[in-house]
Amino acid sequence: MTLFEKIVARQIPADIVYEDDLVLAFRDINPQAPVHILLVPKRAIPRIGDAASSDQSTLGHLLAKAPEIARRAGVGDTGYRLVINNGRDGGETVPHLHCHILGGRPLSWPPG
Ligand code: 5GP
Repeated sequence: MTLFEKIVARQIPADIVYEDDLVLAFRDINPQAPVHILLVPKRAIPRIGDAASSDQSTLGHLLAKAPEIARRAGVGDTGYRLVINNGRDGGETVPHLHCHILGGRPLSWPPG
């Protein structure tokens, strides 16, 4: 079971901000911005690079929900960034696909 599957199963506590049949969103334990939410599919896909064609509807749903969750978190008008880290050089540390929703301050570009 992945760390985020344990959060989905309520085996590990998290500050959950959104849930439906397919996805769960909760606040990052180590926030990098005033708003830092992780949006995950409930059924684990290790990373975007391992997603299968059968995952398309889940991925589409996840991406479509991100703006709603950002709006609920209060950054819909000020702006936000969606980030999916993939693999070692991408900065992935938890092997359960997740989309970071970051906002609440100006974010620099390019990332370091
Ligand atoms: P990655 O580096 O894989 O893209 O992002 C993993 C994220 O998960 C990191 O931002 C990290 O702070 C967050 N994280 C790691 N463990 C936990 C946890 O137990 N609870 C929550 N809410 N976030 C976690």
